[in-house]
Amino acid sequence: MPNSLPQLSGLVVSAHSADFIWRSGGAIALYAKRGWKVKVVCLSFGEKGESQKLWKEPGMTIDRVKAARRLEAEKAGQVLGVSEFEFFDLGDYPLRTNRDALERLADIYQELRPSWILTHSLEDPYNLDHPEASRFAQEARIVAQAHGRRGAASAIGAPPVFLFEPHQTEQCNWKPQLILDITEVWETKRKAFEQMDAQEHLWEYYTRVAMQRGVQGARNSERKMKYGEAYQRVYPLVTENLI
Ligand SMILES: [Zn+2]
Repeated sequence: MPNSLPQLSGLVVSAHSADFIWRSGGAIALYAKRGWKVKVVCLSFGEKGESQKLWKEPGMTIDRVKAARRLEAEKAGQVLGVSEFEFFDLGDYPLRTNRDALERLADIYQELRPSWILTHSLEDPYNLDHPEASRFAQEARIVAQAHGRRGAASAIGAPPVFLFEPHQTEQCNWKPQLILDITEVWETKRKAFEQMDAQEHLWEYYTRVAMQRGVQGARNSERKMKYGEAYQRVYPLVTENLI
């Protein structure tokens, strides 16, 4: 008998092809394990700015870097349980979005109807592609909420937006407002890191970040957690319970 409950879904909007792994791989793996559909939109491949190791190979070209980064992202996505990818190929350093891309992302919101959205911090003085991706993800959400776009039935509700942990939090005016316990999927997240050959220098760094957030998560709760993944909220949490 077919399951009558619709499959729930989440959407991740990543500026470069690997950001979603370091910053939200735990959330993706957790929700995939729970049977959710998780879609990842990569706005660029990070071909210029986040593929250092590949550019050291002789005779490297931009197309080869893009192909390699796409393959790595897909392999890592498979490990995490990503259901679908879309690669917008908008270029990086600088990432520039446009009207067509905005409508394409708004279509994705209206078709997928995600229960949550994960994307970048609102500020990042080290990498302006990241706040650009965040602004773009939020604008597409607002466009998809408009009843006049494709009628009231297509308009989406108000799914919460959670902002990934940036590389240097203080400079980005980012605070951890939610710490997700990712202990049960930590090995999966780490395995996804290891698909990202072009950024091997980040594997240990993001393992330390997860351990730090794990300690803080345990300190702020009664959970015996070892690994955490932190997010900042954009909109208030609406609930009928204080605890
Ligand atoms: Zn990035």
